[in-house]
Amino acid sequence: MASEEAKTGKSMDAIMALCKRRGFIYQASEIYGGINGFWDYGPLGAQLKKNLRDAWWEDMIMRPCWGKNGPNGRPVRCVPLETRIIQHPKVWAASGHISGFNDPMVDDKETKQRFRADHLCGLYLREVASDGPPIGIQYQGFINDIREFRAGDPELTAVASTEGEALELLMPQLKKRFKGVDVSAHVEVEHDVQADIYIHDANQQRAWIAKLKMIPLALLKERIAYIKSPFSGKMGHLTDPRQFNLMFKTIVGATGTEDDTAYLRPETAQGVFVQFKNVVDTTRVKIPFGIGNTGTSFRNEVTPRNFTFRSREFEQAELEFFCHPDESFEWYKFWRDFRMDWWKSIGLAGDNLILREHEKDELSHYSVGTSDVEYRFPFTAPGFGELEGIAHRGCFDLTQHQQHSGAKMEYNDTERGEILPNGGRRGERYIPHCIEPAAGLDRGVLALICEAYSRDESRPSPEVMKFHPRIAPIKAAVFPLVAKEGMPEVADKLHAELSQRFWRQGAIEIDEKQSIGKRYARMDEAGCPYCFTIDGDTLTNQTVTVRDRDSGAQERIGIDKVAAFLTEKIGG
Ligand code: ATP
Repeated sequence: MASEEAKTGKSMDAIMALCKRRGFIYQASEIYGGINGFWDYGPLGAQLKKNLRDAWWEDMIMRPCWGKNGPNGRPVRCVPLETRIIQHPKVWAASGHISGFNDPMVDDKETKQRFRADHLCGLYLREVASDGPPIGIQYQGFINDIREFRAGDPELTAVASTEGEALELLMPQLKKRFKGVDVSAHVEVEHDVQADIYIHDANQQRAWIAKLKMIPLALLKERIAYIKSPFSGKMGHLTDPRQFNLMFKTIVGATGTEDDTAYLRPETAQGVFVQFKNVVDTTRVKIPFGIGNTGTSFRNEVTPRNFTFRSREFEQAELEFFCHPDESFEWYKFWRDFRMDWWKSIGLAGDNLILREHEKDELSHYSVGTSDVEYRFPFTAPGFGELEGIAHRGCFDLTQHQQHSGAKMEYNDTERGEILPNGGRRGERYIPHCIEPAAGLDRGVLALICEAYSRDESRPSPEVMKFHPRIAPIKAAVFPLVAKEGMPEVADKLHAELSQRFWRQGAIEIDEKQSIGKRYARMDEAGCPYCFTIDGDTLTNQTVTVRDRDSGAQERIGIDKVAAFLTEKIGG
């Protein structure tokens, strides 16, 4: 049993096999051997992802926060926007992506394979506890032999191939070191390679004590000659680490040269910032309000991995919520809490979902708060991976675009400022602050798939996808028990009626092949919550059986009550 399976009860290999077999996710360009970091969605996956996107669109833009009032006591207001993948290159200079969106990477000189240098070289723990000698931790991503640079460094070491494994190895050592107190850690080894170490008191209050930090590039350069290549196994076979920009480049125009270089967007947010003024000037929105959009983003990730979790092409759903600086912290807390509730509402409730508030020293210089909604994927367990970041971005982005473009980004707030003799307000001009809940739809789909995946050995097919009815790609199935005696005709009629009524929410299937047990099993694997069977009794007393996917229990209801039953269960 793989260690991930032991920790979560779910095997990533089994989940990936089911995704392929049932048409949730395929490797892109598979018949040509695939292309690393790119994935396609099959019929079930495409509908699942659409349902997730639609749920986001409905609950963030059309009826924000389920109609709840914001911290100002008024309904939350958001409008949609659609902006392009390719923007003027100056957008990315202003946003900081051209200068700062980098990972250090090395190539194997012989095999030409490339990967992240920080994963290769390990990490250090900077101890902030006042007593005791400094602790060093090395996390080793790929190499199984770290003797070369162990001397003098770490008192704690872990040689592991995943973050979760590193954690497991480090924990007993940390516990030994901090005798008598409970120690836990949260590891995130992604763009910002870091891990937070906490201690807990008897009341489970936790205190942050230390952080793992990425090795600076200069130090990596010193060490690279002494590190064996994980590909050729030879020392001295790796190039110096170089900063590698994660943005994909392209050339615009048929006769374009390097001067016509443009970039594929690495996030959708910047398109919103550069259209902020147009939205304010051409609609009736008033601060506070949000602009939401969904769309594809691209990052030339050095090491795409963990199925779709770290892809090179992925879809984001981002809201930029603009407010007065004095109210921004309240809005930040509001959005942070709502986003957590939202992921719970579509089926990610329980211990596998956490909200992690960033520590002060993790924050960007302009931010007063950032939290991540994180999910315990089988490949991150016992740690978590980010699903969504909720960031207080201050006025950083609008100010940057004002400076780089010369366009004024100030908002004239006519509801503020001193009261004039005529009873009106003088108005106040300011650059709004922005709260950004930025979610990844592909990671969302992957989390929903991992959460839904369950096994019940007593069923004909033990794999059951327990999707929340709102996001399940198939909402219901209609089966004639046998393909004769008038049952197919009744099934066709019910199927047509349900399809007509529920097509907006997802597919309604009809299936008359194979035994009824096999048909239930197919629907269990697809995550269809309800199956309606037409049998001999239907022909005499106008009732059908409803089978519940999760319990397997069956009950009889009138055929004329099926639509109402489904409406109650899945909405619409
Ligand atoms: P990470 O640290 O995991 O690389 P990030 O903090 O850089 O993520 P953001 O820039 O905050 O991510 O992007 C918002 C969301 O977009 C993330 O929470 C994630 O769901 C999604 N996302 C980012 N990079 C990728 C990727 N390479 N593949 C799939 N989804 C991604």
